[in-house]
Amino acid sequence: MARIIDAPLRHADADCETRPGIGQWGALDASTKRGLAFTPAVKRETDALYEKVEHVIPPFEWPAYAPLIAAINRLKREKNAVILAHNYMTSEIFHCVGDFRGDSLQLAREAARTDAKVIVQAGVHFMAETSKILSPDKTVLIPDMRAGCSLAASITGADVRLIKERFPGVPVVTYVNTSADVKAESDITCTSSNAVQVVEWAAKEWNSDRVILIPDEYLAKNVATMTTVKIIAWHGRCEVHERFSAEDIVELRAAHPGIVVLAHPECPPDVMAAADYAGSTAALANYVTTRRPGKVVLLTECSMSDNVAQAAPDVDFIRPCNLCPHMKRITLEAIHDALVEMKHEVTIDEDVRVRAKQAIDRMLALPKTDKPLDFETGAREVAVEVV
Ligand code: SF4
Repeated sequence: MARIIDAPLRHADADCETRPGIGQWGALDASTKRGLAFTPAVKRETDALYEKVEHVIPPFEWPAYAPLIAAINRLKREKNAVILAHNYMTSEIFHCVGDFRGDSLQLAREAARTDAKVIVQAGVHFMAETSKILSPDKTVLIPDMRAGCSLAASITGADVRLIKERFPGVPVVTYVNTSADVKAESDITCTSSNAVQVVEWAAKEWNSDRVILIPDEYLAKNVATMTTVKIIAWHGRCEVHERFSAEDIVELRAAHPGIVVLAHPECPPDVMAAADYAGSTAALANYVTTRRPGKVVLLTECSMSDNVAQAAPDVDFIRPCNLCPHMKRITLEAIHDALVEMKHEVTIDEDVRVRAKQAIDRMLALPKTDKPLDFETGAREVAVEVV
């Protein structure tokens, strides 16, 4: 059962036990330890940025964040660095220091075309690896090496080799939420924005009626409802999205009549069936900003609501308090220190990088769709072989 709160994340920090060490007191302490203060110059430098986060950060908290934000933005200019900020970053990172913002696919495309010398990945380790795979000559930093992912940790390159031995000739489509080793063993990667498109492309290219779609069991099952291609899945789960249940939706609808329920396709199939709309993080953001529902809940990582709310101030968000502990390891102070000390650099064995790049390049070469994919809701579950 997910915990649902009826307030912006920032105001719920005090009782949010999954967010230790961050929030205004953490930021204030971090600024002070680094000799940074909220001076009139810092205020002038950051006033325009505050307008982007005032919906989640009250004015009395801003002096705790602003010195770190100003210092990071100065360091970026000095070091010719860009920050790629995932949708699950907290708002002060997403809106105030991120140069490129979005989901895994959008960030991968930006990593491939940026001219900057240094990429700081405000996201988790597999995303930093993807940036390094696509931009081998750039220095790629991850602010905290412990920022992992339950999906990426669920499978290894050796596992993929065993799966391929068991299903010879069946193409392997790998979700980007995996290590470089796993991508290197795959035929093509996908994201939740393009998974159905990639599965159907792979089936056609390999002339196969089956496709191996790994490692997210729920994404595989949700894709299976939208294609005639038979899916072979792995038993990986996202520890954030697997916590949502169909009972959560029943309770939400009872407590908030008329609420529109949006789900991410890493959620279990019964959640997808009970939701009003489902899609990738980009698709969920697009739904809110274009359709403007009166009251909405995004069944995905908690910070996403705070970040989308900036572009949809008239929408009433009910926040699910499901935080990704790995994403939350990325803080302003960790980004600051990574840039000052040029740590922690992500490196990949060249043979692995080249093979992984081939799988990513195949995905990036597919025609770009006009808008992210809508997943079906209300669909009946389709049988999927889970290995
Ligand atoms: S939200 Fe889930 S899929 Fe995303 S990084 Fe966290 S554990 Fe991995």
